[in-house]
Amino acid sequence: MSAELTLALTKGRILKETLPLLAAAGIAPLEDIASSRKLVFDTTMPGVRLMIIRGTDVPTYVRHGAADIGVVGKDILLENGAEGLYEPLDLGIACCQMMTAGPAGWSPGSSRVRVATKFTRIAQQYFAEQGIHADVIKLYGAMELAPMMNLADIIVDIVDTGNTLRANGLQPLQKIADISSRLVVNKAAMRSKHEAIQAIVDAVGLAVEGQSV
Ligand code: AMP
Repeated sequence: MSAELTLALTKGRILKETLPLLAAAGIAPLEDIASSRKLVFDTTMPGVRLMIIRGTDVPTYVRHGAADIGVVGKDILLENGAEGLYEPLDLGIACCQMMTAGPAGWSPGSSRVRVATKFTRIAQQYFAEQGIHADVIKLYGAMELAPMMNLADIIVDIVDTGNTLRANGLQPLQKIADISSRLVVNKAAMRSKHEAIQAIVDAVGLAVEGQSV
């Protein structure tokens, strides 16, 4: 049985906050996602199915039309680009900030700054805009370690409470961007399946408004 609309959802903390919004919009998985090893789920809305994948893969599936709609963090859209995607809704969930962070009291010297981050494109662009010469070093995790181990002077990372930074002797410095999860839509699908997709965008939009009241 082929579904008419596929939604690609980011697994993890974003998924936990996405499911109540979708439920309020009339889309609930027919099985408990948390206790299943499946990656695709039919839903209470006929013809609509959910895929549960890594956030970095969501724009890829939606851009290629393998999914019609996606839920993904703005950090990933900024880092990987949003070509081929519409971004009709800010879901107001998984809110955090993209920031620079460094050892307490750190200030830029006259020379170049070494920056460790998973978000190399965001970092390159930010420091270029600031007119600062940055050597950006790509890491895949635990960015907080880099200043302590003298791999880098500062980092660029997602900050929510700041607890992870403080636990590793770092403090937030400059905000680069506000981050939250976004609904994205494949541009071609937005035309060819306009009615069905717009109905979902509208229903999720109402759920978002309800959530913020
Ligand atoms: P915190 O200690 O609360 O500042 O959280 C910091 C870490 O949690 C970051 O390094 C991120 O890996 C992760 N994190 C926090 N909020 C989010 C979010 N909304 N989306 C993705 N990762 C997040």
